[in-house]
Amino acid sequence: MIVVMKRSATQQDIDSMVEHVEELGLKPVVLTGTERTVVALIGDERSANVNALESSPGVDEVHPILAPYKLASRELKQESTTVRAGSLAVGNGHVGMIAGPCSVENEEQIVSTARAVKAAGASALRGGAFKPRTSPYSFQGLKEEGLKLLATARDETGLAVVTEVVATEDVDVVVEYADVLQIGARNMQNYRLLEAVGQTRRPVLLKRGPSATIDEWLLAAEYILDGGNPDVMLCERGIRTFETHTRFTLPLASIPYVQQRTHLPVVADPSHGTGHTALVPAMARASIAAGADGVIVEVHPNPDHAMSDGYQSMDFAQFEEMMRECRPIAAAMGRTLGSDE
Ligand code: PEP
Ligand code: MN
Repeated sequence: MIVVMKRSATQQDIDSMVEHVEELGLKPVVLTGTERTVVALIGDERSANVNALESSPGVDEVHPILAPYKLASRELKQESTTVRAGSLAVGNGHVGMIAGPCSVENEEQIVSTARAVKAAGASALRGGAFKPRTSPYSFQGLKEEGLKLLATARDETGLAVVTEVVATEDVDVVVEYADVLQIGARNMQNYRLLEAVGQTRRPVLLKRGPSATIDEWLLAAEYILDGGNPDVMLCERGIRTFETHTRFTLPLASIPYVQQRTHLPVVADPSHGTGHTALVPAMARASIAAGADGVIVEVHPNPDHAMSDGYQSMDFAQFEEMMRECRPIAAAMGRTLGSDE
């Protein structure tokens, strides 16, 4: 439920509304907008008496939030959220461009990639140090050593680092090195992990599970927001369908659909979404045209020799060309791309 305060409401009116909500055993979330303040009631609302809330001093109106997710909902917060992490800005006209290898392999690989993607206009560096792999025999990542190499690449280039955390027990070490915590598709419904990153104050990139509905995805975001972490970016990385020509199916309609339902920014991942290098630039362009607030892609100095996901990774020249092709599309959408001013 949301209580919309009048423009003329005083701080005292807001404070007593907060107290009243706490007395009901609900969690008050105060959103101070440019025009007026809204107090959201989070929890089991059955104890709330709408008439009593409506007649409290300074209250304009009370209405329910119909969506199953509350804090993520546009019904609660109409203005779109911008998520910032160092060099990266995502949302409200900033198309964040995140690029880098699937996995961090060695210093030369990650630092040369960071330099190349930065020169082409990327605003953040991606790279997996902890890798969730389908097979237990595949490369599992360099773990803490990989995080250190990402920090070196950040020191060299100033690019913010986006890297995955796969387990609750790794959250502390990843937070030490990362600017953005990535929650992988396979972990989207790992609720203890979502709670753990919700307790941190690092922005989170929440990938959509390959078989998760949009409501399940937004409810996963709700876990993080409910922990008190407001900086969540949603990442559409493709879903599993009957089609086998592409690795996953990248549903571009979910970008504007999700943006209608949530104030959180939406990032597209055409690398995992297609699984083919040759398809990535076209789907990056299409994602920006569909209104994506960011794009994350895999880039490797030598994709043929990558330790993971080489078949969907671009080399430096391909990434540079993709950025060149994306620029006029972002401009046509009235947005700036990556590190462009
Ligand atoms: C990745 O980003 O390399 C990755 C494993 O992605 P996803 O979780 O979307 O499969
Ligand atoms: Mn990958």
